[in-house]
This record gives sequence, structure tokens and C-alpha cells, in this order.
Amino acid sequence: MSTIRLGKNHLRWCYECNLPILEKEECPVCGRPTEEVVLTPPGDSRPAFKHDIDLLRETLDHDYGPGAGMAVIPDDHIVILSKAPSLDRMDEVVIDGAVIASFRYDMGSGWKFVARMQGAYRIGKCFSKGYVVCHPDAIPFIRESKNLMAPGVIDADPDIKFGDEIIIVTADREVIATGMAKMTGPEMVESTRGVAVRTRWYRPEEFRDLTPKKNSWDEAVKANEGVIKRRVDEAVGFIHKTIEKNNLPAIVSFSGGKDSLASLLLTLDAGLKLPILFVDTGLEFDETVEHVHDVCQRHGLQLI
Ligand SMILES: [Zn+2]
Repeated sequence: MSTIRLGKNHLRWCYECNLPILEKEECPVCGRPTEEVVLTPPGDSRPAFKHDIDLLRETLDHDYGPGAGMAVIPDDHIVILSKAPSLDRMDEVVIDGAVIASFRYDMGSGWKFVARMQGAYRIGKCFSKGYVVCHPDAIPFIRESKNLMAPGVIDADPDIKFGDEIIIVTADREVIATGMAKMTGPEMVESTRGVAVRTRWYRPEEFRDLTPKKNSWDEAVKANEGVIKRRVDEAVGFIHKTIEKNNLPAIVSFSGGKDSLASLLLTLDAGLKLPILFVDTGLEFDETVEHVHDVCQRHGLQLI
């Protein structure tokens, strides 16, 4: 499939400040060079909210044992989710400037934390489940993208089921790869043949551990104030020009989502109080309809 990118990816990172930086190749705070955070197209990123973070930690604790959630996603660290194409629902998880995993919903089995290496290294700091211990002789093969065969398994979490996302580690708890279980834990240990784990991410990476460098959305907004202000000014100018050019009644099309909310707030920045048009498709959640009414009331706007 060819890549579909709806515009440029503007998400960059300053690893000195541990902050997301929009557009700028130089950090507006410390002046050091920033790096692009490479996202799967279309690169539609947003802040993770409390509900997202709770769900991520809950899934990690369930799959890798208590404490894994906090080891991977500690407090006082901003988390960004970027929607990626999938059968049902999938987000890439960005923390401390690294895409650490995909967080995917599978019909039937529920939420899965599909770790990449940076995620696996974090899990490696605290796990008691979801592990497969490989023989040292198997490591060079895994690092060549080969699957882990059952004879190369020394030990495995007995609760592993077929299809589980797991990490492959050494007996010293060093993380080697991530993968999907092709057998149950006990089968992996007992079998003398067959694929135990289909390897997913296996290239050794330098572990960029920025967990001691806390950050917050307030700091992120402050660092990006210049870019955000310029974007708001551009949008406000566009709104005024469009209304002047077309002698027609203006409205804000509002779905209750983040994008149309941004549009609505920009019209308020433009000093306008336009009516809101909401289309109830009949497939809306009650909470969405309630939210639309709340927003109109909060800003004193007419709802169409
Ligand atoms: Zn910086």
C-alpha cells in the first residue's frame, strides 16, 4: 500500500528539554537541534488523556505484571497518541520522544500493547509476566529477524496464550526482541520443534531513557507558543477573509471531535459568535450529543 500523508508531519522533539516541538529544527527553549518523531501516516497525533493513560497502564499491568504500566508510562510525562490505519482502532504511543508501541484494539481479544524496542526496554525494567527467555545461541538468529523456535526457549510465562504479545529476554532479563506467541507458554518450553514466537521488533537500539526528565503540557505549550500563535493568526485571518469574500451566512460545522472543536475555538478567537451546525446521524453516542449541547451553552452559541 502506498503511503498516504495528509500534509507534513510537524511533530519533532527536543531530547535536551524532553519536549515536543512543532515545526522548528531548533528548540525554541534551549536552541539545540530537534529531531522528527517518525509517525506512521497520516500522522494524526493528539495528547493522550487520563482515560487513555489509565487504559494503557491497565493493559500493561495485565500483560506484563503489576508495575509494568508505571515503568513504561511514569507520572509527569506527557503521552501523545497518533492514529494509525488498522482493522478496528490503533494508535501509536509516543513518550519522551520515542514511538514506544502501537496500542491496538482487536475484536474478540480487546486492547493490545504491541511494544517496539523502546517500549520493550521500558517493560524490561519491570516485568513478571509476558516474557519468553531464549537460549543465548538463539540471539543471533533473532537479530536477523528470524522467529524464535521452540528449542531456543529456556523458559516462558506459563500464562502465555497463542496470539499474545510478548517480549523475548535473556536469562539476565536483557530485552532482545518483541513478538507474538505462536504457542502457549508451557508448549514453548516443552516442544522440541516449531515456531514459538513470531519475531516483530528485533533491531537493538540505544535505549533513550528520559524518564528522569519530567515534562508537562504547560511546558510543551509554552515552548511552542510562537508556532501556535502564528498558526492561530493565520487561521483567524483566513476566517475573516473567507467571510468577507463570500456574502453568505456563516456557520461552524461541529461534530464534537477535536478538529471541529479547534475550528470553533478559532472562530471565537476571530471575535465571531457563529451558529453551530451539528448533524445527528443517529449513530452518535449520547455523550457526544450531550457534549455538543454543553459546548454551545458554554460559549453562548446557537445550535442548529
Ligand atoms: Zn530544548
